[in-house]
Amino acid sequence: MARKIIVLGEVRDGSLRNVSFEAVAAAKIASEGGEVVGVLIGDSVSALSGELIHYGADRVITVEDEKLKQYTPDGYSQALMAIVDAESPEGLVFGHTSLGKDLAPKVAAKLNSGLISDVTGLEVAGGNLVFTRPIYSGKAFEKKIVTDGLVFATIRPNNISPLEKDESRTGEASSLSVDIKDLRTVIKEVVRKASEGVDLSEAKVIIAGGRGVKSEEGFEPLKELAKVLNGAVGASRGACDADYCDYSLQIGQTGKVVTPDLYIACGISGAIQHLAGMSNSKVIVAINKDPEANIFKVADYGIVGDLFEVVPMLTEEFRKI
Ligand code: FAD
Repeated sequence: MARKIIVLGEVRDGSLRNVSFEAVAAAKIASEGGEVVGVLIGDSVSALSGELIHYGADRVITVEDEKLKQYTPDGYSQALMAIVDAESPEGLVFGHTSLGKDLAPKVAAKLNSGLISDVTGLEVAGGNLVFTRPIYSGKAFEKKIVTDGLVFATIRPNNISPLEKDESRTGEASSLSVDIKDLRTVIKEVVRKASEGVDLSEAKVIIAGGRGVKSEEGFEPLKELAKVLNGAVGASRGACDADYCDYSLQIGQTGKVVTPDLYIACGISGAIQHLAGMSNSKVIVAINKDPEANIFKVADYGIVGDLFEVVPMLTEEFRKI
């Protein structure tokens, strides 16, 4: 059944986040040959319409307003609801990001719709659109179909490959004027923590450190390796609790859920709460002094050894490539 699917392009620091292109690819599957309409919301976002089209959107609608410069659930949901009213789509797709996790349920509730969140796979099988999503902290996967109403989903980053960028693709870019009013929250200023390098939630390579790293300085060899592999540095809660690094790096049940192509766990024991955030990574390498460490049960490759010897050796070897 051909559908019109709206997909939200997420903009950060003037650029589209990669998960936007993955959401377009998911919307393409969900549309079953129908139309994919990209949506951009912000104060100055229309210049990004072309890129969304190059990645597969058939056309793009922008809502621009000074009041939408920063994300607020009120402002963005007003903009999105206006587009839904104008377009009457059969589905909506967002990235499963902080923004998507906040906005999608709000809009789904306004539309009296169900929502399939944290989708890691999507296919048409047996005449149905089948969504795959992890359950029980990633220990199992469930498959879901929508039997009634809107197809509404959030897509976990790094799971659905974006379409090849095609700069010859063309599509209509239009704008919709929406009177954004009665905002209950106004963001006056955003003070960002200085973060180095690649965004953890979208990184293809993550070098994560645990309590075995032993100190803030102990993270330096991990940062070096991350730099060489163009990856991001993550951490266990053990390392965060010990004040070796910031909580924004925490991966796990109460931290970020990541699915990079390569996850290198250094001095992490592999507690169940940590595994909940990384066990679906495509390739897991564990470096630990203790051959009995639980992390080896989920690792594809295990190195029993001192991380302060092994990590610099890996960095040296990868530098040669
Ligand atoms: P440890 O368990 O102390 O492991 C350190 C490891 O380093 C050991 O295996 C040791 O052999 C190894 N090691 C030491 N020195 C070296 C060396 N030189 N070279 C190589 N290896 C070395 N944890 C998370 O990570 N994320 C979460 O989101 C999370 N949420 C939680 C939620 C709840 C409700 C609770 C109760 C706990 C949660 N935890 C979480 C904590 C979790 O249970 C563990 O305590 C934590 O993951 C342990 O961190 P760790 O593996 O770094 O430390």
